[in-house]
Amino acid sequence: MGRGMAPRHRELTLAPRRVYVSPMTTSCIFCRIVGGEIPAEVVAREPDVVAFLDVQPLADGHVLVVPRAHVAAVEDLEPAAAAALFEAVLHLAGPVREALGAAGTTIGINNGAATGQTIPHVHVHIVPRWPDDGAGSIHTIFPRKTRRPLGEVGAAIRQLVG
Ligand SMILES: [Zn+2]
Repeated sequence: MGRGMAPRHRELTLAPRRVYVSPMTTSCIFCRIVGGEIPAEVVAREPDVVAFLDVQPLADGHVLVVPRAHVAAVEDLEPAAAAALFEAVLHLAGPVREALGAAGTTIGINNGAATGQTIPHVHVHIVPRWPDDGAGSIHTIFPRKTRRPLGEVGAAIRQLVG
């Protein structure tokens, strides 16, 4: 019984220590993959971007494309980093689809904790899709609870876009 308890005790004491002692960039799992500290099935390694297979894939060939820089939200990316990220997505979408014999890909970003982004380091999902795979489109994740007229919403956004 004593042996059985040991691993559990170690887990409980290590987790908080990691949070308090390490800076964000070293506790971030994606930063550690980018830095080669944690092994991953890397499919592309570029100067500003790394792409690897999601360890909990939604479908075979589920790829995550991440900027090397630790940035939590898309809107906080430097323009050059954003360009490099999307260029990598462009570069990978075809090969990911073809390698898996898929009919298409769903490409998406959960941007912010409220959206289900569990790791605060920007990552683009590329998920291969087939006509009979049982998954929906991006539209199917929303209950469509809209209340405001398009004109009013458009004006509010335009005012901030400048
Ligand atoms: Zn990170």
